[in-house]
Amino acid sequence: MSFAHLALSPELERAFAALGFEKPFPVQEEAIPGVLAGRDLVVQAETGSGKTIAFLAPLLHLLAKAPSGGKAPRVLVLVPTRELAMQVSDRAIELVKHLSKGLKIRKAFGGVSVNPQMLALLGGADLLVATPGRLLDLVRQNALSLGEVRNLVIDEADKLLDLGFTDEMNEILALLPSQRQTLLFSATMNTAVEGVINAFLRNPQGIQVASSPVPTASITEKAYLLPMEDKGPFLRELLAREAWSQVLVFVASGRKADNVVRKLGNNGIRALSIHGDKTQGARTEALQQFRSGRLRVLVATDLISRGIDVSALPCVINYDLPRSARDYVHRIGRTGRAGLDGSAISLVAPEEEAHLRLVEKTVGHEIPKEKTGKNSPG
Ligand code: AMP
Repeated sequence: MSFAHLALSPELERAFAALGFEKPFPVQEEAIPGVLAGRDLVVQAETGSGKTIAFLAPLLHLLAKAPSGGKAPRVLVLVPTRELAMQVSDRAIELVKHLSKGLKIRKAFGGVSVNPQMLALLGGADLLVATPGRLLDLVRQNALSLGEVRNLVIDEADKLLDLGFTDEMNEILALLPSQRQTLLFSATMNTAVEGVINAFLRNPQGIQVASSPVPTASITEKAYLLPMEDKGPFLRELLAREAWSQVLVFVASGRKADNVVRKLGNNGIRALSIHGDKTQGARTEALQQFRSGRLRVLVATDLISRGIDVSALPCVINYDLPRSARDYVHRIGRTGRAGLDGSAISLVAPEEEAHLRLVEKTVGHEIPKEKTGKNSPG
């Protein structure tokens, strides 16, 4: 199938060409007709599947065709994290550049001053991407009305609920017109997500795309078995030995992330960390440096394993195994993307070996292992 079959405007087709997209991804093929037909949708899809374009393209198409609106947003995209808010709004801005109709894309998220966001909203908004807490702050301060929203996207619904946004979501949904289209995207389905679907969606069409990113042949996985205290030195040796242009290192907590960064620094390896306890400024800066290639090593918690699209990383290292096997898939999906090869390396201490077996059971294959002695990489 080509984009031309999806009945989007030629302007959007040109935008896809400019982005280098040749044909729609499965989630786009399936979801775009439903969005254009005005249906509610429940889409089970993960970051990497192309879900963002699956909702942005048809919604921008509809906005571009509709008569201009007032100042209040007509499309609202709810997202769990600031990073995802920036990523989705940046993508929307890229698409809008190709439209002859000037549409206003706004974003709202916490951790930064509210004033610039208020000012931007004063200038009017067509599509707003927001995290729940800041969105409600803006409504309470009368900087924003949700009364004109015709299309609601709940992106990464499972993550929104995991992060404890249930009350905020209920409050927001109560402020929206009941005549609207609701599109819910979630990587996983559970009773909490189903509760939201049952309460707020109308006769939704269910779409499930083969879960992606899955470990694929282009990702080489390896687990090094080593004592806990050898992880730091071994990581440094790996970084010195291997020619990876960039490495994303996952750890279990924010504190651990800072620790690893400090120890790397003490050994002359520059790294930055990104996790929930960092200021927004520090998070944005670290991510920008990493995305632009100025930073080689980024140390992160699972906060960013799902939502963030960093293209084509050559290597992901699990300094700590993730708590859930699913997060393992999310983490290693940051590498080996877009047909490029990638390495996914896990550092596994004896006390984590049982957990590694659990991960293997879930991903459905054995991960090649190598015991490594003190400070000697493979
Ligand atoms: P997402 O799942 O929305 O985070 O998208 C994952 C990545 O796929 C992003 O880098 C998109 O730019 C890219 N992408 C989305 N749709 C297409 C497409 N049809 N062809 C090629 N790349 C795409």
